Amino acid sequence: MLLAITKTFPPPAVQEAYDAGLRHFGENRVQEAKAKIPQLPGSIQWHLVGHLQTNKARDAVELFELIHSVDSLKVANELEKWADRASKRVPILLEVNLAGESSKFGLQPESVVEVARQLGAFRRLELRGLMTVPPYLKEAEKVRSFFRKLREVKSDTEQALGVSLPHLSMGMSHDFEVAIEEGATIVRVGTAIFGGRETVVQGMSEGADV
Ligand SMILES: *Cc1c(COP(=O)(O)O)cnc(C)c1O
Repeated sequence: MLLAITKTFPPPAVQEAYDAGLRHFGENRVQEAKAKIPQLPGSIQWHLVGHLQTNKARDAVELFELIHSVDSLKVANELEKWADRASKRVPILLEVNLAGESSKFGLQPESVVEVARQLGAFRRLELRGLMTVPPYLKEAEKVRSFFRKLREVKSDTEQALGVSLPHLSMGMSHDFEVAIEEGATIVRVGTAIFGGRETVVQGMSEGADV
């Protein structure tokens, strides 16, 4: 699935991509999504791909079809609480920090099985797979080992828990081809669809560069 990442792009740019046929869009901040979503067609499926703070869990439950960025039991607890109040099921992915980068969010790969096991006790959350944002390396080929590693962590988790996890969310504008070769089921593409973010932020009237 191609997930078009619309962070920083104004609603007309998103509308243009929608008119071209895209239906799955992703935002990385709850606040920005909350402002944008009401201005766009209701048939869009919105995903959250950026870090989720516990105080935004209530909005996240309301706004998103899939939350890619669950990275702690603390945030899972908060999602469960609000999902329960709304009588909703909330599909989630666990975000994994494969390179141990301190600048990035995500679980250490070694703790994924245990966290996934504990999620089994959550009635409202549905674990659908794993997500990662690997280090940015100019040569996309060098990122391949991280994509492969995420696939391995997913299969280890499936085996340990006897479950099937359909999704691997990995690959962005500059490395999605490699991610697809390594088994991505969702690629998250922003600039390759909409153009450079800086330009569009300055000139809000510019449309999507599809
Ligand atoms: C911005 C963002 C993307 C898309 O990045 P591009 O390089 O614009 O394709 C993908 N995933 C996450 C988590 C993002 O924040």
